[in-house]
Amino acid sequence: MSERTIAAIATPLGEGGISVIRISGADAIAVADKCFFAFSGESLSNLCGYQAAYGKVTDSVGNTLDDAVALIFRAPKSYTGEDVVEVSVHGGTIVARQVLRRVLECGATLATGGEFTKRAFLNGKLDLTKAESVMGLISARNDAAAKIARGAREGRISRDTEDILNKLLETAASLAAFADYPDEDIPNLSEENFALLLDECYTKCQKLISTYDTGRIIREGINCAIVGKPNVGKSTLMNMLCGLDRSIVTDIAGTTRDVVETTVNIGDVTLNLADTAGIHSTEDTVEKFGVDKAIQKIENSELLLAVFDNSLPLDSDDKQLLESIRDKKCIVILNKSDLQNVFDKKDLSGFQVVEISAREGTGYDELCSAIARVCKTEMLSADDTVLINERQRDCVNRALSAVCAARDALTMGMTLDAVGVCVDDAIAALLELTGKRVTNEVCDEIFKRFCVGK
Ligand code: GDP
Repeated sequence: MSERTIAAIATPLGEGGISVIRISGADAIAVADKCFFAFSGESLSNLCGYQAAYGKVTDSVGNTLDDAVALIFRAPKSYTGEDVVEVSVHGGTIVARQVLRRVLECGATLATGGEFTKRAFLNGKLDLTKAESVMGLISARNDAAAKIARGAREGRISRDTEDILNKLLETAASLAAFADYPDEDIPNLSEENFALLLDECYTKCQKLISTYDTGRIIREGINCAIVGKPNVGKSTLMNMLCGLDRSIVTDIAGTTRDVVETTVNIGDVTLNLADTAGIHSTEDTVEKFGVDKAIQKIENSELLLAVFDNSLPLDSDDKQLLESIRDKKCIVILNKSDLQNVFDKKDLSGFQVVEISAREGTGYDELCSAIARVCKTEMLSADDTVLINERQRDCVNRALSAVCAARDALTMGMTLDAVGVCVDDAIAALLELTGKRVTNEVCDEIFKRFCVGK
């Protein structure tokens, strides 16, 4: 347990109902007792865990800073595993800061970013994947991202990792026993059985990694550009997706002069959306600048919504656009379907095609389904385990490579010691994933990304 008692404002600064100042450490209750006075006259040190007191927080000369509720958590039954006091005061920046300052005067030191969660990890309250999920929950931008983070918080990644670890530990132990007693007839100790165990570990590691990219799209969103000729309805589509007049819509070709950007949630997918200037040949200098930016955006985007006018026949500009997006993750949108449709669809084989009327707002559900299909989010089932950051993917990837190396060593007839070394590498990578064997540097790096107060 750490010696320092730490404190920080745990709620976002700004106007709101309440702000919470959190104090954690061996002296948390003693510190709070110096500046919080219950109206009942009872000292906080007499309260049991999970009890609250209503009173006031005062400054050094006894002036009231605010009315407050102090909630007591007794170690180890608290978030950090230490004694914790959470002081709730009226929301806003000034009062919360004044109370924090007073708490610091009374003996606490200011917590660093993520220090509460780091203490929870160091005190064995949560493993590293669960600690990281806290950050995922805080930063979730849509329901699916929150669900993934909640799954990790409930221990899904830990459970799956534990499962693979147990198999690897069984393999390591069997390898050692087999090396020591090669002539004994011990059940399950055979090269075939080792290969079987390693195969199982391989499949499980692969399964964990397979959901990572989809999870990343759900968490971080996907960079998406709306592209197409001038006047096909790109800005109208952007506005339909945003639900507000974000882009300028006119029927004069070339009115979106630059790239308009915004973020929208479409089902489980967050689109970091850019409406580009229409791509076509132009001599107008300002327009040309917009067209160049649009071409750049196509190259940098992970998903393209390519818009065509369903009421006009396919022309050479359309054909050129179709060619330039053929190898990309894209959806072809035939807009203006409320008018007579003359666009020739036989050139669209191999593309995901959705017919909409951005102006009338029809075809939205079909577009959502197509986005989910292309981004593969619809393939993610409710109980899939999803790795939530690059560090976790890297650990599982290293475990996977080590398992492959162990399988290769076995098939190539190398010594069982050599196989054992690879299995140990895989074990080390997974212990790093859950934080059972992690360096201080890695640990510091992880918690540095958290906000103060978490
Ligand atoms: P952009 O240049 O591709 O961004 O096109 P705009 O969104 O500015 O739209 C160009 C014109 O097409 C405007 O007059 C829109 O009102 C019209 N428009 C856009 N979507 C539709 C649609 O679904 N149906 C019809 N009939 N007109 C549309």
